[in-house]
Amino acid sequence: MPLPVAHGLLGASVAAALRQSSQSRQWRPLWIRAFLGVCPDFDYVLNWLQISGGGWHHGFTHSILFALLLGMIAASVFGEKKVRSVILYSAATVSHTLLDFLMTESRGVALWWPFTDHRYKLSLPNPIDYTWSNVSLWQATVDVLRISLIELMIFAPILLLVVLVRRLLAKHSVAA
Ligand SMILES: [Zn+2]
Repeated sequence: MPLPVAHGLLGASVAAALRQSSQSRQWRPLWIRAFLGVCPDFDYVLNWLQISGGGWHHGFTHSILFALLLGMIAASVFGEKKVRSVILYSAATVSHTLLDFLMTESRGVALWWPFTDHRYKLSLPNPIDYTWSNVSLWQATVDVLRISLIELMIFAPILLLVVLVRRLLAKHSVAA
């Protein structure tokens, strides 16, 4: 199950790929969209609070509709009234849903909530070993840090590559 490092970097990568050339040197929108890429996992809070007995993870916050709604809310909070902004914020959020759909080892994500509660997953071979120790809090922390570092090594180059390509394209279009 991907951790916040992978989700944040992927959300930022999607946003960097889709944003307008005029924004290619602005980092603040990327941080916001990286945060949106992590948001669906705040359903853990509902589990910790034991609301309705738990079992919320990978539920409604991992649906396409939730990503669209969050995109609309984010665009209105930041005063951006363009459809393009809603698409950008939604895409950053839905990248989380799709990565979990591809990589989760759980029973799947509720992609099409509220139309169906069925959980979907692809169960592709996972390139990262997401098992961590239950022996002690220290050992679990070490394992989570190790996994986060591996995610950083995989997903940070993707973000850097997207940013670099967008800058080259922006330069090219200015020169043309
Ligand atoms: Zn998730």
